[in-house]
Amino acid sequence: MDPRFPREAEEFRGEIRAFLADHLPDDWAGVGSLDTEDAIAFTEHWRGILAAQGYLAPAWPTRYGGGGLTKLQQVVIVEEFARAGVPASGAHDNFSIKMIGNLLLKVGTDAQKDHFLPRIISGKDRWCQGFSEPGAGSDLAALKTSARLDGDQWVINGQKIWTSEATTANWIFMLARTNPDAARHRGISMLLVPLHQPGIEIRPITMITGARAFNEVFFTDARTSADNVVLGADQGWKAATALLGLERGDEAATNPILFRAEVDRLIKLVHERGLADDEIVRDRVAHAYTKAEIMRFMGARILTGWLKGETPGTEASVSKLYWSEHHRSVTDLAMTLLGPAGLIPEGRPPLRHFRTDDPGAPNSTASWYHTWLAAVSGTIYAGTSEIQRNILAETALGLPRETRG
Ligand SMILES: Cc1cc2nc3c(=O)[nH]c(=O)nc-3n(C[C@H](O)[C@H](O)[C@H](O)COP(=O)(O)OP(=O)(O)OC[C@H]3O[C@@H](n4cnc5c(N)ncnc54)[C@H](O)[C@@H]3O)c2cc1C
Repeated sequence: MDPRFPREAEEFRGEIRAFLADHLPDDWAGVGSLDTEDAIAFTEHWRGILAAQGYLAPAWPTRYGGGGLTKLQQVVIVEEFARAGVPASGAHDNFSIKMIGNLLLKVGTDAQKDHFLPRIISGKDRWCQGFSEPGAGSDLAALKTSARLDGDQWVINGQKIWTSEATTANWIFMLARTNPDAARHRGISMLLVPLHQPGIEIRPITMITGARAFNEVFFTDARTSADNVVLGADQGWKAATALLGLERGDEAATNPILFRAEVDRLIKLVHERGLADDEIVRDRVAHAYTKAEIMRFMGARILTGWLKGETPGTEASVSKLYWSEHHRSVTDLAMTLLGPAGLIPEGRPPLRHFRTDDPGAPNSTASWYHTWLAAVSGTIYAGTSEIQRNILAETALGLPRETRG
């Protein structure tokens, strides 16, 4: 099987390759080859170039700062960027563009779209996501943070946890209980809240990697305008569900490239450690290689549906479970190959704490050690492996539903 794109997509690919050749230095070896400070500066600078070109949100209408391109062209762009080892977006854009931006584009009011979308593209607004609470993670409908209308403002009280990037964001999209008398899933609203106000306190949490990428966020009579609600009051569950189906396309296109690059780096490590003739190592590497290849076909299947406008359901759970468990097993093998030396991180650590290290990254102990530690989180955020298995058991295999409160 050899999944291919239509001819017009391949023609567009030529344009993107020319764009990259024009804008990257001749000796470009991937953002992973830069030291940390340079890589952060490059990503910020590159984001500006993408915004000006319309490549930051390629399929958004131009009036909101997008590129006015098709979803197929967007897929080609992110694929070529992943191959060249350049970021397709900036540090907050997973939340800002892929999540809340795309959600507003789909279901927001005209006023919300006109106000928020251009500010996202310009980088003026940087978003984070406030869903999880100390007593509500997998069982999100148990959330207790409340909001009540006071004149033309919502007044919010409660606590969120594991809020990634909250210290560098200036807006949060969050779920709050707005109707305590309604059934669990019914009385929730999705609110858009400015973070920089007296009623909000952000406390960083140190992760096992030493990074302080996520936070607790406390709300004490915090306020936002009554208009800043997605889909209307008490429609938050519907809004959160719509969010889950968005933007699987980019991931389906880039995962196979990035995880294959990681396996290639693993193979290099095997040679460096003189273990290429070890039968057990060969067997495990072959397994990792095969799984990365299967990811390519899985990606092609998801893309086929996504480009037709279908929302991936079962495939999204299979894909999430597959890449996150695969990543754990690859990084675990790398640590086994490194032996005790792997526990003394040396060299440049990964720039991002989730997924694979960036293309061009050195085969350093720091790179493998940090990705190994962070790989565990991939099986937790965006729905744990157990929850994905539950979904698959019930929706794909038709097994009896578990009891829900
Ligand atoms: C790196 C990282 C970044 C994150 N960023 C954000 C963010 O920006 N915003 C945000 O809102 N949240 C964020 N989260 C939180 C994440 O969404 C939650 O951690 C996740 O939903 C799991 O919830 P929990 O931690 O409360 O675990 P729990 O739901 O308490 O689960 C504990 C364990 O029980 C298992 N379990 C729970 N229910 C079931 C069940 N029904 N059947 C079988 N097993 C079950 C789980 O799989 C898990 O192993 C982030 C998490 C991580 C790790």
